[in-house]
Amino acid sequence: MSIVTRFAPSPTGFMHIGNLRTALYSYLLSKSKDGKFILRIEDTDQVRLVEGATDVIIKTLEMTGIDYDEGPGVGGDHGPYIQSERLPIYKEYAEKLVESGHAYYCFCTAERLESLKDENGIGGYDGHCRDLSKEEIEKNLAAGIPYVIRQKMPLEGSTSYTDMVYGEVTIENAELRDQIMIKADGYPTYNFCHVVDDYLMGVTHVVRGNEYLTSTPKYCLLYDAFGWERPTYVHLPLLMGKDDEGNVSKLSKRHGAVSFQDLVNNGYLPEAIVNYIALLGWSPKDTNEEFFTMDELKKVFSMEGLSKSPAVFDYEKLRWFNSEYIKKLPEESYEEKALPILTELCPKGINIKKLGALLHTRIATFAEIKDQIGFVVERLPMEEDLYTNKKNKTTPEICKEILEGCLPMLEGVSDWSNDTLFASLKQFAEDTERKAGAVMWAVRVAVARQAVTPGGATELMEVFGKEESIERIKFAIEEL
Ligand code: GLU
Repeated sequence: MSIVTRFAPSPTGFMHIGNLRTALYSYLLSKSKDGKFILRIEDTDQVRLVEGATDVIIKTLEMTGIDYDEGPGVGGDHGPYIQSERLPIYKEYAEKLVESGHAYYCFCTAERLESLKDENGIGGYDGHCRDLSKEEIEKNLAAGIPYVIRQKMPLEGSTSYTDMVYGEVTIENAELRDQIMIKADGYPTYNFCHVVDDYLMGVTHVVRGNEYLTSTPKYCLLYDAFGWERPTYVHLPLLMGKDDEGNVSKLSKRHGAVSFQDLVNNGYLPEAIVNYIALLGWSPKDTNEEFFTMDELKKVFSMEGLSKSPAVFDYEKLRWFNSEYIKKLPEESYEEKALPILTELCPKGINIKKLGALLHTRIATFAEIKDQIGFVVERLPMEEDLYTNKKNKTTPEICKEILEGCLPMLEGVSDWSNDTLFASLKQFAEDTERKAGAVMWAVRVAVARQAVTPGGATELMEVFGKEESIERIKFAIEEL
């Protein structure tokens, strides 16, 4: 039997990393077995609808390389793939269960349901309309009394299923309320329509968050009522976050960025995010390898590698993955991302391409570009201590002499490239019987005006260009 999985998000406006991990695992599970992967949009909760949210989902899947075989925009044999476009289907299937005695019309008013609740607002349905006579139902329907359709739960016994991650789950049927399948406005509930869709779409493996672990027996009962074969369930443990005090709780905004889009906006690469979250709850067998492309993941992923202990999202680890991914980016792709940022931040005359190259191995996220180039964007206030360097035996006085000495030579350099500048300064050091290190130190501090820089003196001069470099050196001499 070939595997069919699906990702069935509710369009809430952003893609939580936990949801993205669910999508990824569901996708990988099917692709590791040459199966099919479906995207279905679960938008029947009209109150929670957010405009443009479906686009966010589709865009995220596209950016992460999670391509679906069937779904909105792509089509397929089981459409439509947006639940709000499938309302007649749910109605039809709900009626089938009414006919077979597994569901019933409920005409209870909101006031009556309210009265069933205790002082804490807790209280379930009491089964009041379970056994209405045919005549009563006909009469109510004819009178146009609003109704919902409820699932008729067995009153005795228990329902079990075996989850692939958590093992056997059993619920006493007496604990199950007669949940609503179709609401008074004709919209189905998630509890009902996802089962109908999973069946009609041929889904063999339901992969989702573990918040559905204990409600799944109810869904199993729906499968049983229809006489359909139940799917295999794969519930995933929650993604957790750790706060500054070391307390662990469900990953939320107070831990950091939690949506895919925010991470991308913060300078993370989709490939790095995917690689990292693939390992949050799954590990490959027989290897300690941590780096996987999507194609490699499709090969090595297997259900046996899933863990039921909650994974903690570690932002430092993601940062590390990202820095490794940035280092590995081919120059062209790196520049595609880095150069627009540099162009926006840097003043005219800066050699953006060269500056980008200096930063390539020195940033962990693209957002860090901004932090690294403050000294390029403006002339920082000078701290005189910077001129004092033990190793190169420099003092502010010595640096002043060096700068005054090499300035005329630099003004005469016509090929303002790192190589030429380096050779010229080295020659200058030899001619003036100074250590090359001392000369480079003086020039680098004068030009950059900070101690730690991406690149050395002559690389930075190339970045700044002749005019700005000379000006900075003159300015430094005056200060000194
Ligand atoms: N729409 C549900 C959610 O976003 C899907 C759960 C499921 O995959 O069945 O939580």
